[in-house]
Amino acid sequence: MGMPQTKTRLLQPATMAVAPVPSTVVAASDPTQQDSLFGDLAQPKPSLSQLQTKETMEDIWRDIGDCKRCGLCEGRTQVVNTYGNHKARLMFVGEAPGADEDAQGKPFVGRAGQLLTKIIEAIGFKREEVLIGNVNRCRPPGNRQPTLEEAAICRPFLFREIAAVQPDVIVVMGNTALRNLLEVREGITRVRGQFQDFRGIKVMPTFHPAYLLRDPSKKRETWEDLKKVRDYLDTTPPTRLDS
Ligand code: SF4
Repeated sequence: MGMPQTKTRLLQPATMAVAPVPSTVVAASDPTQQDSLFGDLAQPKPSLSQLQTKETMEDIWRDIGDCKRCGLCEGRTQVVNTYGNHKARLMFVGEAPGADEDAQGKPFVGRAGQLLTKIIEAIGFKREEVLIGNVNRCRPPGNRQPTLEEAAICRPFLFREIAAVQPDVIVVMGNTALRNLLEVREGITRVRGQFQDFRGIKVMPTFHPAYLLRDPSKKRETWEDLKKVRDYLDTTPPTRLDS
């Protein structure tokens, strides 16, 4: 393997900062959140270089604090922030915390999380070597899917974390993660297994581990998707100089 690539993404001029998220609850009737099927995904997206800031994960979490920016704050026990290696090459993104995650304050620690750990280990990583997060950080009531509005309010924190960590590959698990990172209308079944782009970062869509628990026959396709991720990471030098 040759010299690591320079941080080309970081060397491009930063022309747009990440917009701060207001600290108050946004009204459910806010029309700006309901203009399109995917909320603000219809807006032009800044590249990762444009998102580049000097903030750390801790800075972002400090900003999140005891967040009450959307209605999901009302039923949660605690905010569940992204967890793992802050210099990870590989990141996994799911939908939102469930009961176990809400109780423990960490993402993917229930049954689906145990399966995710096996998936991570199957491609040669330890769980603590990767980064694991969700689109929303508070448990939706009854484990329902977050609304478009709730996802649109919370996901800027995820985008800021991605800009801070700069992983080489993001695995989006399930439709909520897929549609909040990528401008696609197709479902996960149509796009899984095909590398996509999120502001210069490779994105691999695949099934959510909770879905695999309900339909174990999909594990084979998930394994095929994750092998592509492993092969990409094995054959591509790290973008981060300190990975
Ligand atoms: S889901 Fe996100 S935006 Fe909503 S209250 Fe929790 S941390 Fe804040």
